[in-house]
Amino acid sequence: MESLNGKHALITGAGKGIGRALALALAKEGVKVSLLARTAADLDAVAAEVKAAGGKAFTVTADVADINSVNNAVAKVLAEGPVDILVNNAGIASFGGFLALEPARWEEIVKVNLFGAYYVTRAVLPSMIDRKTGDIVNISSTAGQRGAAATSAYSASKAALIAMSESLMQEVRKHNIRVTSLTPSTIATDMALELKLTDGNPEKVMQPEDLAELIVMQLKLNRRVFVKEAGLWSTNP
Ligand code: NAD
Repeated sequence: MESLNGKHALITGAGKGIGRALALALAKEGVKVSLLARTAADLDAVAAEVKAAGGKAFTVTADVADINSVNNAVAKVLAEGPVDILVNNAGIASFGGFLALEPARWEEIVKVNLFGAYYVTRAVLPSMIDRKTGDIVNISSTAGQRGAAATSAYSASKAALIAMSESLMQEVRKHNIRVTSLTPSTIATDMALELKLTDGNPEKVMQPEDLAELIVMQLKLNRRVFVKEAGLWSTNP
């Protein structure tokens, strides 16, 4: 297994939930974590947790749906050092029937979940290509594989994220860059609670720490992993 010690990861949506758990898990492996989200207070709290555990953290606020905001933020992150691992995790969701969900919200969901990952990757990729190394992990969802009732925007954005990942993977593997899309089902975070996905039993579904551990393991294995039984990984043969 490859050591991640000394690497630098940029995690979007790192203010809470899966992003927070992943920041702590990577920091435990000796990875310096750059944390990006919209809310500075959330980021400061996560950075404090990372530092309390002996890790290194850098924080930057940005709206991933805004290309200028992303470019400014990524420039600050790259000034801290080249990014070895990019995790496009920032995401939003709403339940709403196909006709009930307002077009503006539909657009916002696709903008954050799909364009957000595109903008951040576009800003980070040139330095990965220059250095001929990099890992890009895109957090999709089972909804992106098979859809889910009353989540047309979310499902469409997550399906497109898988397709974007697969296309990019085929394009950049010659540069020794790996691209993986993950398709978790329900994880006990604020998003799942807000969408009432946990049926009042958040302990019955996967915890963000469990998913973070799997992502760390996948990065350490330094190869693409298929955990089909867990229904978790989109494939990158
Ligand atoms: P969460 O709501 O707990 O956290 C989302 C994070 O993203 C927050 O830090 C928030 O500030 C940030 N964010 C949202 N919009 C942003 C924007 N425009 N710019 C920058 N940051 C932004 O959500 P979570 O459950 O931890 O989800 C993380 C990812 O995992 C999402 O992409 C989500 O779609 C995906 N996912 C979640 C579940 C689940 O059940 N929780 C399942 C499958 C996939």
